[in-house]
Amino acid sequence: ESKDRLRVAVRIRPFSQREVNRKCKRIVNMDGAETVLTHPTDQADRKSFTFDHSYWSFDGFNQDPVSGRNIPDPKHPRGHIYCDQERLFSDLGRVMLADTFEGYNTTLFSYGQTGSGKSYSVIGYGPNQGIIPQFCHQVFRIIEEKTYISPTNTAQFEVRLSMLEIYNETVNDLLTASKNGRGLKVREHPKKGFYADGLSDFQVSNYSDIERLLEQGALKRTVVATNMNSTSSRSHMIVTIRLIQKGTINGGEMTTTSVVNIVDLAGSERIRNTGDKGVIAGQGSGNASGERFREGVSINKSLQSLGNAIHILAESSPGSSSHFPSHSQKGPRVPYRDSVLTKLLMHALGGNSKTIMLASISPADIHYEETLSTLRYADRAKQIRTRPIVNKNSTE
Ligand code: ADP
Ligand code: MG
Repeated sequence: ESKDRLRVAVRIRPFSQREVNRKCKRIVNMDGAETVLTHPTDQADRKSFTFDHSYWSFDGFNQDPVSGRNIPDPKHPRGHIYCDQERLFSDLGRVMLADTFEGYNTTLFSYGQTGSGKSYSVIGYGPNQGIIPQFCHQVFRIIEEKTYISPTNTAQFEVRLSMLEIYNETVNDLLTASKNGRGLKVREHPKKGFYADGLSDFQVSNYSDIERLLEQGALKRTVVATNMNSTSSRSHMIVTIRLIQKGTINGGEMTTTSVVNIVDLAGSERIRNTGDKGVIAGQGSGNASGERFREGVSINKSLQSLGNAIHILAESSPGSSSHFPSHSQKGPRVPYRDSVLTKLLMHALGGNSKTIMLASISPADIHYEETLSTLRYADRAKQIRTRPIVNKNSTE
């Protein structure tokens, strides 16, 4: 059993139209592995963070007139390497892909305030495909390649897809209409841990199958307009891809099952930013409705529990100043049971998974507080260790 550190990446997006209209200043810079955040009114107040990967997508991109894709601009001014969707995938996605075929479970979660680019990175828009579609494409390409290279290969591959959202602590299947409209129960299996009972799980045999399902699921995802961003999603989404590899080794049947979880979290901002009062002046009117307020509270409940879990795991990791004493072999009590999100992400956080956290940030001064809180959250997550193993089962 090996220990694996959770890897953390940060990505900065371009100014939004609204930020341009408001003549925002950029307060984030990246220099190698370092991300520096400058206080909007105090140049001397600089906070520096170091992450495993730093992705600069602020400027230096062009839109390809034919494909509509955001591509690097060869003459871009600032000397940063512009990170387009392909580069993001070659960096993060390809490692996940290799781990998946080796039999590891992998998880990627996309964290950040609403409008910071979480969905752009993992799902993408139009021709700018995010990690999930590119990953699915490559899965089938590799399967084809493996079958072609070795026609005598006895290996068999099966790919399955499921997709759920957590909305107000209720789990909704995004691929099948729920029977009673009340959502799925989260149950606990003695060995496998928590799962959403009755979640549909489709076998897919090519990329267009997956593409169709992903589109269908994205449409179903609950979207409620907020004052911050009219397409803001107030739910957490988990896309699960299962790769089952069967083959004969030394006369014995072996099955390797790898689970890939890609999580598009709801906005990490606090409730005050989505309502009328507080940080963003001149936005919205009246009080947050009861409904909206309830959403905010339970989104906070799930994200709060995720934060608590990350906090406790980070504190108890070796290398942390408050390292959990070695005499207690059981480790810390992590409050996974506090929310649906932490139940379903339990393995990703403390167990059998290679895990990546992708933190998305806005470049703009008006989002200083949220950007700082995202960077701090990501910084804490760096301490977490998981215990990934190759999921091989002899079925003899
Ligand atoms: P979130 O999911 O965090 O709420 P989105 O992913 O929907 O945010 O991004 C908000 C807007 O910013 C979208 O219009 C998206 O196209 C744009 N955007 C986000 N990241 C990038 C990027 N790296 N390059 C270009 N545009 C981006
Ligand atoms: Mg989103």
